[in-house]
Amino acid sequence: MIKSITKLEKYLGTGRIKKNFDLSPYLTLRTHAHAQYFFEAETEEDLVAAKKASLNLRLAFFLLGGGSNLAILKKNLRGLVVRNKFIGKKIGSLDKNHVKLTVSSGYPITKLAKELAELGYQGLEYHLGLPGTVGGAIYMNSKWTKPLSYVGDNLISAKLLNAKGNVKIVDRAYFEFAYDRSILQKTNEIVLSADFKLKKTDPKNTLAHAKFSQRYRRETQPVGQFCSGCFFRNVNGVSAGKLIDQAGLKSKKVGQFHVSEKHANFIIHDGNGKPEDLKTLLKLMKTKVKDKFGVELKEEVILI
Ligand SMILES: Cc1cc2nc3c(=O)[nH]c(=O)nc-3n(C[C@H](O)[C@H](O)[C@H](O)COP(=O)(O)OP(=O)(O)OC[C@H]3O[C@@H](n4cnc5c(N)ncnc54)[C@H](O)[C@@H]3O)c2cc1C
Repeated sequence: MIKSITKLEKYLGTGRIKKNFDLSPYLTLRTHAHAQYFFEAETEEDLVAAKKASLNLRLAFFLLGGGSNLAILKKNLRGLVVRNKFIGKKIGSLDKNHVKLTVSSGYPITKLAKELAELGYQGLEYHLGLPGTVGGAIYMNSKWTKPLSYVGDNLISAKLLNAKGNVKIVDRAYFEFAYDRSILQKTNEIVLSADFKLKKTDPKNTLAHAKFSQRYRRETQPVGQFCSGCFFRNVNGVSAGKLIDQAGLKSKKVGQFHVSEKHANFIIHDGNGKPEDLKTLLKLMKTKVKDKFGVELKEEVILI
């Protein structure tokens, strides 16, 4: 029987598949997980070919963006893990006051926010400092809260790859965007690229917004530590971080994981932590908040 790696190479190119690959450098929480097969997609064609290969070879498929909203607790991920490094963008005129941005799903969102802010194109500038990719941010409808603005707000349409490996174009309504939500969480479709409508304005405005959010993040979120984003979703507009803080859990440590002193909704990995310790800490946080406020916390970070 020909090995899967050889079969995968037939679809994706010789030497491009890594076996038993350590994913931790690509996960902002730095949990130790290995991919059975690993591939870096650099183009739209790569993403489509990887999905088709996984379907034809009956391998599980997982798409990794910036790895900033994940807590991978499994030691080994079976099947094909694809890291999205498809990076490109095009800006064209839409009307007198707006431009149309077409951007690939692997584009780092913070780089995009900076570039657009410098050009005075308004709509994504508050996401300066948001880790991860455009695709991951659309999947989660990632947000900024001061003022409330979601990545999906100015999206016009997107090119998706569906579960059968077929490409389709959808409009904004298709995504059913809401707080921390898009339809992709149900359909498992992949964003290949997206179109946004952005307002032309004075770069002074967009740069001021971008710098404000960057400064605010630095002041209120952990910097230079291994963590994912906010672990729990806010509850009916109430900050989960506040509830965790008021339950007395700041700095609470289990093994090599602890609740951030700076922002109680961030969990910091001190290195070499055991998955069971993270699970215990999460359980403790949920129990304490439930006991004190009667509120059930639900994870925003995706546990795998
Ligand atoms: C320090 C820090 C600060 C953060 N601040 C914020 C914040 O202000 N607001 C906020 O909302 N979040 C925040 N986050 C969380 C996180 O950065 C966002 O959720 C981000 O948008 C995730 O993107 P990603 O590319 O890293 O996705 P990943 O973590 O790689 O993946 C998350 C999910 O998206 C799926 N996915 C990835 N790419 C695609 C694609 N192209 N098509 C379909 N599905 C895809 C993955 O398969 C996975 O299921 C923060 C995280 C950190 C570490």
